Amino acid sequence: MNTLSARLLAIEDDPQIQRFLLAALEAHGYALEIATTGNEGLRLAALHQPDVVIVDLGLPDISGLDVIGRLREWYKRPILVLSARNRESDKVAALDLGADDYLTKPFGIGELLARLRVAQRHLAERPGDAAGSRIEIGALVIDLAAHRVRRDGVDIHLTPIEYRLLAALAQHRGKVLTHRQLLRDVWGANHVESPHYLRIYMRALRHKIEAEPTRPRYLLTEVGVGYRFADAPDG
Ligand code: CA
Repeated sequence: MNTLSARLLAIEDDPQIQRFLLAALEAHGYALEIATTGNEGLRLAALHQPDVVIVDLGLPDISGLDVIGRLREWYKRPILVLSARNRESDKVAALDLGADDYLTKPFGIGELLARLRVAQRHLAERPGDAAGSRIEIGALVIDLAAHRVRRDGVDIHLTPIEYRLLAALAQHRGKVLTHRQLLRDVWGANHVESPHYLRIYMRALRHKIEAEPTRPRYLLTEVGVGYRFADAPDG
């Protein structure tokens, strides 16, 4: 998908955010359509098949969570959520329903464009792509085919669980994964209610991967939601 021709649908009732989205996205070459209610959004999504749908969780008619659930019955492309601050449980619910990521209001243009870039990149990548088997970011190289992790050219020894956790996050670089999604992917469906596993292994993994484990550059915490492998670590 070409960013310059991407067609976006935003389902958002707040006129101020509508204006912000229009100005920000059209200036960067996106074509944006706006729906002001959940039902209008569902209708326009089916009619115009946008490349990305942006959904505000607080809509006047049906909830944004309902919109996501109904979209995901047929819509396979990225869904980004707009959420109010301090509504972590809503964000988790939206992600578990199949949304790809979220932005917390108020958000800036840079953050919005970064989330869109990540969502579009993951849409374009197909599992098994040769280019996707080696992830190189900063000083860190993860060779998914060889199950090998190096930092500054030095092999890092990981346990199988640590490796699976790192690989799950790195394969979705830039995208948040909920505690539940990580527990299911790494430990299996029986362990989705065992968040302490995740905390213990994340701490161990950061000690092996990060130069400063308490100030991670790669393995970022999304408070109350999950973890995100940095898309572009600074420094
Ligand atoms: Ca709203």
